[in-house]
Amino acid sequence: MANRVDLDGRPIKTMTICMIGAGGFIGSHLCEKLMDETLHTVIAVDVYNDKIRHLLEPAETEGCAWSGRIQFHRLNIKHDSRLEGLIKMSDLTINLAAICTPADYNTRPLDTIYSNFIDALPVVKYCSEYAKRVIHFSTCEVYGKTVGSFLPKDHPLRLQPEFYVLNENETPCIFGSIEKQRWSYACAKQLIERLIYAEGAENGLEFTIVRPFNWIGPRMDFIPGIDGPSEGVPRVLACFSNNLLRGEPLKLVDGGESQRTFIYIKDAIEAVMLMIENPERANGQIFNVGNPNNEVTVRQLAEMMTEVYSKVSGGKILDVPTIDVSSEEFYGEGYDDSDKRIPDMTIINKQLGWNPKTSLFDLLESTLTYQHKTYAEAIKRDIAKSTAS
Ligand code: NAD
Ligand code: UDP
Repeated sequence: MANRVDLDGRPIKTMTICMIGAGGFIGSHLCEKLMDETLHTVIAVDVYNDKIRHLLEPAETEGCAWSGRIQFHRLNIKHDSRLEGLIKMSDLTINLAAICTPADYNTRPLDTIYSNFIDALPVVKYCSEYAKRVIHFSTCEVYGKTVGSFLPKDHPLRLQPEFYVLNENETPCIFGSIEKQRWSYACAKQLIERLIYAEGAENGLEFTIVRPFNWIGPRMDFIPGIDGPSEGVPRVLACFSNNLLRGEPLKLVDGGESQRTFIYIKDAIEAVMLMIENPERANGQIFNVGNPNNEVTVRQLAEMMTEVYSKVSGGKILDVPTIDVSSEEFYGEGYDDSDKRIPDMTIINKQLGWNPKTSLFDLLESTLTYQHKTYAEAIKRDIAKSTAS
């Protein structure tokens, strides 16, 4: 731990990291890694801390490996003057805070735009003013739809990588019309990327932008009715986990034809660690972080999760494991979808020598084992309660 070196063999200086959104899915895994494997200090900022409580409570006990190296500040970055001081006293700021569940993009477009653009402005401003490095979390959704999606279904050009592989420096960003409010998120993220890039170009801000491609794993989102609202709609991993835990068919939006590449959170966190500890290689870069080898349609994901869940829970597979539902019924008006998301890995490979490792089957096996252990009993009690009333 003490002798960590960077990719060029230089010793890594310990730093203080202001992590905004540290209590979320990605933040909780990043905090865990930083506490377990480094001597860096984390100033964890969020409105919630349930997902990092296991790190905060032992830290108060003397003798714990990370005692005194993580402190939690419960604050909302929308309106809290303490943010400036926390950024000023840190060496690096990592901004993860966002509204980032698709069910919100078309139903709460104002909150989505404010959260992803307006609320991030002071973070960028303070980093620029105090000459602090920033790692900002954007999204693969800034690419929007692929160029190939506008060609007829069986057109041969659809098979050419340049019509669907997404490259940070070359691929255009293609969104739907304004009434398709789904794109409010992608558009807000794109504008904050452009602002950060401009701060770099005009004022010398040291930045790295991360574009995650469907990172999944334990602690992602919530299970409706257990640790989140019963009517809430989380991202697909938690939606399908909820269906499997309750023994209900999985809902395929518009036939489940969209394609995604899924990456295990622990592989992705390795990439973020390299960015944190190799500023000279990461500054000024935009990085795709995904696993191009784990591509499936949403229908195939549903089938695979059904099979893996039956294996880890010992339960049987339903006669009708999936049902089709229209996007209008599932998400409401203004929903639209990205058709296909394959990350080009050239830049991250060249700069940081990073590659993802975990197959989709393996990552689903460990994640669904976690979901089953964490939620199966609570779901049983929830179902018993609602049948009794
Ligand atoms: P998450 O919702 O689990 O975490 C976000 C955290 O930010 C939450 O704990 C939330 O409470 C906090 N937060 C939001 N607004 C805040 C505010 N005003 N003040 C203080 N805290 C606030 O989401 P995640 O999956 O961990 O994603 C983190 C980042 O990565 C987001 O910017 C998201 O857009 C981006 N991203 C993630 C994925 C993915 O695959 N998980 C994909 C694309 C982009
Ligand atoms: N989806 C689905 N059923 C669900 C939840 C999501 O078919 O219960 C689909 C959704 O329409 C999208 C894909 O799964 O095509 C991935 O959705 P997610 O919410 O994880 O986020 P996205 O990748 O679109 O950002």
